[in-house]
Amino acid sequence: MNVYDELGIRTIINGNATLTRLGGSIMPAEVVAAMVEASKHFVDIIALQKRVGEELARLTRNEAAYVSCGAAAALTLSTAACITGLDASKRERLPLGSGERNLATMKSEVIVHRYGRVGYDFAVRQVGVTFVEIGDENGTSPDELEAAITARTAALFYFANPSREHLWVPYEEGIAIAKRHGVPVIVDAAAQLPPKENLWRFTEMGADVVMFSGGKGLCGPQSSGLIVGTQQLIDAIAFNGPPHPFIGRGMKVGKEEMVGLLAAVKWYLKHADTFQQVYEEQVVYFAQEFADVPEVTVHRSFPSEAGQPMPRTEIRFDESRLGITRDAILHKLAEGEPSIDIAGAGANGVLINGQTLMPGEVEIIARRLKEILKI
Ligand SMILES: *Cc1c(COP(=O)(O)O)cnc(C)c1O
Repeated sequence: MNVYDELGIRTIINGNATLTRLGGSIMPAEVVAAMVEASKHFVDIIALQKRVGEELARLTRNEAAYVSCGAAAALTLSTAACITGLDASKRERLPLGSGERNLATMKSEVIVHRYGRVGYDFAVRQVGVTFVEIGDENGTSPDELEAAITARTAALFYFANPSREHLWVPYEEGIAIAKRHGVPVIVDAAAQLPPKENLWRFTEMGADVVMFSGGKGLCGPQSSGLIVGTQQLIDAIAFNGPPHPFIGRGMKVGKEEMVGLLAAVKWYLKHADTFQQVYEEQVVYFAQEFADVPEVTVHRSFPSEAGQPMPRTEIRFDESRLGITRDAILHKLAEGEPSIDIAGAGANGVLINGQTLMPGEVEIIARRLKEILKI
């Protein structure tokens, strides 16, 4: 009996994505071992954060790095850092109240591309800032960005997603404009691994802070996030972060998460180049499994929904000839034994994402699909 059996909670085969609602990712043994080691001793937590940050910066070719309790917390802390710097009197005034906004000393606006918004707005807004949106469905001009910058601008945010980039001021240009006005540029790349080069690509372009979810592509602790960037802003992030009793106090990071994320980044950099081949083989496997079933067609879908350069398997069903709808198939996969969670795609298809599948699970998914389709 495992811990989940004891609790009466079913385990799930995740062929969907590194979704927080399913537990994000599965940590490799090296990461779990590092966390167990870390759990056995007391340490000075500020000194550990600093030392782990140095190692993470070195590994990811950055000036500085920090472990947050997730990429959403990283959004909050980096917004706070852009407002306060190392000024203790500003730090204790966060989150900004409505009366605070008029104070010339506190920056209170964040610029975002209207077509670059994601579901994580609140992580930025909880600092009390307001969004200033730029761009429309036809794109965004550099002039529009420049005109949006005022003395109140705390930062320019990009929510990285290659499939929307064509609607934005290109990174290099946005960074150049922001720099001219002394405005930091923050890139939320939480789900942008692969490719591994993103760990340094944005900062090499001149972005001041970039964050990644520790529990998505990196396969680190689910409640961890990696922030990389300039020493100046990383210091200001730590200044707002735990254990200091200010805006980041509720975003605690344990010694186990710090050490675990470091082990995960090492593991990821060592193995990242091998993942692509595994995903390609999965597409070929499903194509072969259903090659002689005319009601089922298998395609290679590329890139991922977040625009990541990785293939997924798309399977489309001829619902009328099979006598079952796509949604009924998804329902039976979820309710059956074992429970399988994959994403719907289009009107009559599903997508299988190799990023979260463990060895042997593609075979289980193919077998369950055949049972459900009675083929
Ligand atoms: C997942 C995600 C986040 C949040 O990351 P957590 O590590 O789960 O807090 C933030 N931004 C984007 C774009 C994401 O995909």
